[in-house]
Amino acid sequence: MSNCIFCKIIDGEIPAHKVYEDEKVLAFLDVNPSSKGHTLVIPKGHVENIYEASEMDYMWDALVEVSDAVKTAFDAEGLNISQNNGEVAGQEVFHLHFHITPRYTGDEIEVDYKREELEKGEEIASKIREVF
Ligand code: AMP
Ligand code: ZN
Repeated sequence: MSNCIFCKIIDGEIPAHKVYEDEKVLAFLDVNPSSKGHTLVIPKGHVENIYEASEMDYMWDALVEVSDAVKTAFDAEGLNISQNNGEVAGQEVFHLHFHITPRYTGDEIEVDYKREELEKGEEIASKIREVF
């Protein structure tokens, strides 16, 4: 995709701090990190989001390997892995990417999804099951 910033990083047109690369996957530092070591993992083939990622099993292996490296490098006490799909969900770059965000005691990162008690659980679950 000619207009995609992450494709440009893959093609070397714009710089990035790369941490891992293979034939199908690239991982590099987020330019606005939430914590030390905040890394993005992307497929080299351009897809916008998770709905287009059904043939990308290799992303899982890359996520596990890069998570392990990031955790080890900075002795992170935990990690959040997040991935946004669609503007309403906070997606800003429309090339599939996973955020690996190392967590440290006192880092003051807030992951704040408001929760409520589940209601009509079976109705909701069956609505999703019907789609398979
Ligand atoms: P999202 O909101 O999930 O789409 O996240 C996009 C992420 O890409 C943000 O965390 C940005 O800081 C990051 N980002 C945008 N441009 C670049 C870039 N050129 N190099 C590294 N990270 C970038
Ligand atoms: Zn792209």
